[in-house]
Amino acid sequence: MKKMTIEDKLGLNLFHTDEENSHIEVDLEFKDEAEIRKLLLACPAECYKYEDGKLSFSWLGCLECGTCRVLSHGKIVKDWHHPMGEIGVQYRQG
Ligand code: SF4
Repeated sequence: MKKMTIEDKLGLNLFHTDEENSHIEVDLEFKDEAEIRKLLLACPAECYKYEDGKLSFSWLGCLECGTCRVLSHGKIVKDWHHPMGEIGVQYRQG
């Protein structure tokens, strides 16, 4: 049996998304590029983008790992909580 790659495993995850309400509140006006780059490098789902000096964020593929909350020390991520009820990621292969 072929060993699964990380990408293969992540591709099996199911997402039940709430497209109206983010479970993470991000300060999109934040300007410290060094701090922003930490989140760009750390987020395994690439939810953060930084183009032409503008930060953007999408919670729809969030893996709910909490890394961005810990790294930002309240500077970029202003609020973080798990999605409500049946919403969010459902892991299939760890
Ligand atoms: S919780 Fe994890 S996956 Fe979700 S946005 Fe933050 S770093 Fe990315």
